[in-house]
Amino acid sequence: MRRTWLFVMILSATVGGEMARSLAFQQPSSASQSSATRVVLLGTGTPAATPDRSGPATAIVVNDTAYLVDFGPGVVRRASAAATSRSIAALQPTRLQVAFVTHLHSDHTVGYADLIFSPWTLGRRVPLEVYGPRGLTDMTAHLLAAYRADIETRTNADGNQRSFPDGYKVNAHEIAAGVVYKDKNVTVTAFATKHAMESYGYRFETADRTIVISGDTNPAQATIDACRGCDVLIHEVHTSAWLAARPEAGGAPPGTFKRFSEKYHTTSEQLGELARAAKPRLLILYHYNSLSPEELQADMMKHYAGQFVIGRDLDVY
Ligand SMILES: [Zn+2]
Ligand SMILES: [Zn+2]
Repeated sequence: MRRTWLFVMILSATVGGEMARSLAFQQPSSASQSSATRVVLLGTGTPAATPDRSGPATAIVVNDTAYLVDFGPGVVRRASAAATSRSIAALQPTRLQVAFVTHLHSDHTVGYADLIFSPWTLGRRVPLEVYGPRGLTDMTAHLLAAYRADIETRTNADGNQRSFPDGYKVNAHEIAAGVVYKDKNVTVTAFATKHAMESYGYRFETADRTIVISGDTNPAQATIDACRGCDVLIHEVHTSAWLAARPEAGGAPPGTFKRFSEKYHTTSEQLGELARAAKPRLLILYHYNSLSPEELQADMMKHYAGQFVIGRDLDVY
């Protein structure tokens, strides 16, 4: 397990009035290690098919239970990678059982079939619980219909999954803003964001941390209100230089994506302003677009003096 070391700078006055500086550190106890809430970045990417950045997917892991937010392409393999390389057993594919989706754009949901079926074939015995906007129930029903032949052959008299025929099933819950989920580990509150369709961000409150994730959105007061000094804010972003340089995809008329992006996404300048109001202890950038990581870093530093990191797949916070 990757350990987190907390460094504390202690300034103390000596008898002679001089300031002495010492560096102390403390390792969290093993009890707090096992109960601590962790953010695992499974996919920090965008629709761009970037090999080292999988599609949008984030796991909040609390007391050995995983809660997913979004299921972009590669979600199950990234979860499996985190289970192995980061020793996070809760992310073993068969243990992926609860997920929240921010909106139904394809880059956030093309891993849905993967999340439904791959863990089942590996041994998940219980239905998947999924929470998200209107349309989730239809999307779920259509996917199950699309894989009807697979389900039939796996559950018939010859089928390898016939003794656990519930593992592909999905309980899809269409939500509205407010508390959408609560168990002994976590309370999850959805808040409406500003995107091209019905969309939500989520606030996770656990015994030791509050974590807010934006999904795709224009700057939203609801995000600021959901955070208000939260421990971690995970937010999408792009730089203006990237937007100016981006060629239109598919030969669309010039300015098509720029107009979309200005309405439905967030620039680093806007994110700096939002984060100054939201005051997270740590800001994690994900679903980002920039000319390079260095350009994103420099641009964010211009607009935000607080602590932030550029998220990478399989980073744990
Ligand atoms: Zn989107
Ligand atoms: Zn997106």
